[in-house]
Amino acid sequence: MKKLWLKIGVLGLLGMSCAKNKCAECHYDAPSGEVEMGTYCGDELKNLEDLGTYTDSLGTTYVVHCGEH
Ligand SMILES: [Zn+2]
Repeated sequence: MKKLWLKIGVLGLLGMSCAKNKCAECHYDAPSGEVEMGTYCGDELKNLEDLGTYTDSLGTTYVVHCGEH
């Protein structure tokens, strides 16, 4: 039983490190349509998803989407 829990723990860790390094293509929704932002991975992706917005040079904020909607 103890071994089983150990196995679950290891699998959980692997799953977490996998998610941490995941990559996704991001875009934001401008009035003229979707604008591709390129591919973001790991912490960069997490930060962008946490922020959830992109602000352009004119100070306009758009909603960011990453990966599948
Ligand atoms: Zn979108």
